[in-house]
Amino acid sequence: MAVDGPSGTGKSTVSRKVAAALNAGYLDTGAMYRIVTLAVLNAGIDPADEVGVANLLPSLMFASPVDPAEQVHTLAGEDVGRSIRSVHVTTAVSEVSANPAVREWLKERQQQLAGAGRMVVEGRDIGTVIAPDAALKIYLTASEEVRASRRYKEVGAAGRTPDLAVVRAAIAHRDNYDSNRLHAPLQAAADAIVIDSTDLDIAQSVEAVLVLAAQ
Ligand code: C5P
Repeated sequence: MAVDGPSGTGKSTVSRKVAAALNAGYLDTGAMYRIVTLAVLNAGIDPADEVGVANLLPSLMFASPVDPAEQVHTLAGEDVGRSIRSVHVTTAVSEVSANPAVREWLKERQQQLAGAGRMVVEGRDIGTVIAPDAALKIYLTASEEVRASRRYKEVGAAGRTPDLAVVRAAIAHRDNYDSNRLHAPLQAAADAIVIDSTDLDIAQSVEAVLVLAAQ
């Protein structure tokens, strides 16, 4: 199953719960882009330096978990679960993700993992590029206001003190960047089913996906 959509829709939580309910694997492709971005920043490479970023890729060693109950992301053996969600990484990730060499490199890994059994794969280009033959494609969205307020709560829960206007502007900027890049932009596949979760909580969104999966 492919689950795509913009930031702040609850996509990750919904996808993980759907995978657990279906006894399927779960792949968070956004975390993979975040890990590459963290490695780029750690190496002191400018995210805009396409060649520098591409040259770094062969040296990267990271694990991508597929158990929805056990999501431990490591880079060179170190747990980077927290640092890949930092403001630094979140600010730079769209630029790194727009690099065609990064997309090609991750595509291979994602397709390998996605093909390893029943999987819920979550991202921005899953229904369009990574798994165009997926039996079910979901495009999860919500109003910009609701997405900003969900992300605001997430950031607050992570112990940071956010400003709603800043969070909202950052989400709008990232989605705009992701939607307008040249390679594999964020978009609903032509055969995706759109779920607007503006008025749905997580449990209702999960239920909506499970109903579609059972059809
Ligand atoms: O889902 P998450 O917010 O963690 O994704 C972080 C970023 O990774 C997105 O804003 C996007 O730039 C990139 N991404 C992507 N393609 C995917 C998943 C994520 O370009 N399939």
